[in-house]
Amino acid sequence: MDIIFATKNKGKLKEVKAILEGYNVMGMEEAGIEIDVIEDGETFEDNAIKKAKEIMLISNKIVLADDSGIEIDYLDKKPGVHSARFLGENTPYTIKNQKVLEMLESAKKEERTARYVAVIAAAFPDGTVLTERGIMEGEIAQEPKGENGFGYDPIFYIPEYKLTVAEMEPAEKNKISHRGIALRAIKKRLDEKIS
Ligand code: IMP
Repeated sequence: MDIIFATKNKGKLKEVKAILEGYNVMGMEEAGIEIDVIEDGETFEDNAIKKAKEIMLISNKIVLADDSGIEIDYLDKKPGVHSARFLGENTPYTIKNQKVLEMLESAKKEERTARYVAVIAAAFPDGTVLTERGIMEGEIAQEPKGENGFGYDPIFYIPEYKLTVAEMEPAEKNKISHRGIALRAIKKRLDEKIS
């Protein structure tokens, strides 16, 4: 069964292929699709559904698309859907993470709670659209630590592991990550729909 996963990111695609075993998962490049869908929705669901539907209509195949971000409670759940665009899309994460730490300077430990959210939408040629949401709870660290991962990982601390996500091995992150949780849930829905 062919599935297009709407990403150009090779790392993300590798992670998705590993979880969606049994399916022939193609990235945008492999599927020969070039469009850029504008993520202008107000929720993760809006953006993931928009992306999955637009690409399904072009390809007439099952399309999965994700949208994700970090919600920081002390900042009223910001940057949320704007996580990639926070301080500008091309600003390095060393600067974005430093800014987050500054914004939380006066926050007490118990006020530093945050979560990664990932929503995956599946759009089928018969018009069906499904979504699944995965959440990874944590807190904003006092300082950046670790070299693995990407984005906000150096300042996203998981108390149960006593590590930031950037200090975790990638396989360890995938087991508990928002995207891993959402992907495994959507695989279950795909298996059910197709069987
Ligand atoms: P997306 O690719 O449009 O879903 O953008 C997600 C943005 O949220 C990324 O560019 C990061 O800023 C942030 N983000 C989402 N997931 C993660 C993660 O696992 N680690 C670090 N940052 C993340």
